[in-house]
Amino acid sequence: MDDLQFGKRNKRGDWTPTAVLEAAPLWVRPLNLGKILRWLVGYLWPWNTLYMALTLAYWYWVLPDVEVMQTVGWGWALRLYAVNAAAIFVLYGAFEYQLYVRRNQDYRFKYNGKFPADQPSDVFWFKSQNVDNFLRSFFVSIPLWTVVEVLFLWCFANGYVPWLSWSANPWYLAALLLLAPAIHEAHFFCIHRLIHTPLLYKWVHSIHHNSVNPTPWSSLSMHPVEAFLYHAVALWHLVLPSNPIVALFQLHMAGFGALNGHIGFDQVELTDGQAFESHAYAHYLHHKHFEVNYGGDQLVPLDVWFGTWHDGSPAGEARMQARFDKKRARLNPQ
Ligand SMILES: [Zn+2]
Ligand SMILES: [Zn+2]
Repeated sequence: MDDLQFGKRNKRGDWTPTAVLEAAPLWVRPLNLGKILRWLVGYLWPWNTLYMALTLAYWYWVLPDVEVMQTVGWGWALRLYAVNAAAIFVLYGAFEYQLYVRRNQDYRFKYNGKFPADQPSDVFWFKSQNVDNFLRSFFVSIPLWTVVEVLFLWCFANGYVPWLSWSANPWYLAALLLLAPAIHEAHFFCIHRLIHTPLLYKWVHSIHHNSVNPTPWSSLSMHPVEAFLYHAVALWHLVLPSNPIVALFQLHMAGFGALNGHIGFDQVELTDGQAFESHAYAHYLHHKHFEVNYGGDQLVPLDVWFGTWHDGSPAGEARMQARFDKKRARLNPQ
C-alpha cells in the first residue's frame, strides 16, 4: 500500500498520519449517530473481540475447577503463567516477527524512521531493546499479571466477593463488559499519571520509557511496581459486583491489549490493498513526547479534560510546546 496517501514522511524518515486523533464521538455534541455507529464497529472489532475470544478460551479450556481455585497453589498458578506467557509469545511475537524481524512492511506506516534492532543502546540490558524488553515482559510483568489473576480467581472461588450469574444479571454484566475498556482507560490514566511524578518516574516508569521507539516487546516491559499496578485494573471487579469472566476480560484487555499502543506502525498490512488499524498513535506520541496522552484513545477523554491531549496535528504539537514552555518558565523563573 502507498502510505503517502494516508500521511507524510519527514527527512528523518518518520511517518505521520494525516488523520487527526479524535476522542470517542460519544463526547462530541451534537451527537452524530452515523459517526457513533462507525466508531462502535472499531470499538468492538477486531481488538476487543480478540480479547473476548481469548477470555472465553481461558474460561472453557484453561482455568481449573472452582474447587481447585479455592486454594492458592503453585500447580494451577504456574500453569496459568505458562499459558499467559505462551499466548503473549504467539500474539506479540507474530507482530514482532512480521513487522520487525522479517520487516514485511518495510517502513510503510512506520511512525519512527528507524528500527530499534539497528540502534544498540546502553540503557538496555545487553545493549539490546529487544532482549531487554523480552526479558522484562516474561520474567517480571507476566508473572505479576498472573499474581493478579490468581488473586481475583481465588476471591471469586471462595465467595469473598459477589459472583453474579449471567442468568440473573444478563444486562448488568453485558453493560459491565461494554464498559470494561472505559474502566481500563480511567485506571491506566490514573496510575500512569501517578508514575509520571518525578520520584516514581525515576525509580519505576523510566524503565518503560527507555523504549522511545517501541515495538510489541516493549508493551509489557515494566518495573515490577508498574506491572502490578497496571494489571491490578482487574481487581476493580472485586469492588464492583461482577463475575470472573468480566474480570478476566478486564485483565486480558490490559495484558494482551498493551500491544496496541506499541505496534509502532499505524496500519498493519494484510495484503497489497488491505490493512487494519493498530490504534497505536496516541500512545506512540506518549513515548515520543513523554508528557502527553497519559490515557488511550480518549474513550474517557481524561487527557482532553486535563489539557494533556496531543491529537497528532500541528495545532496539537503547538499546544504541547506552549504547555512545555510554560512549565519551563515556572521551574526556571528569570
Ligand atoms: Zn508504552
Ligand atoms: Zn509514561
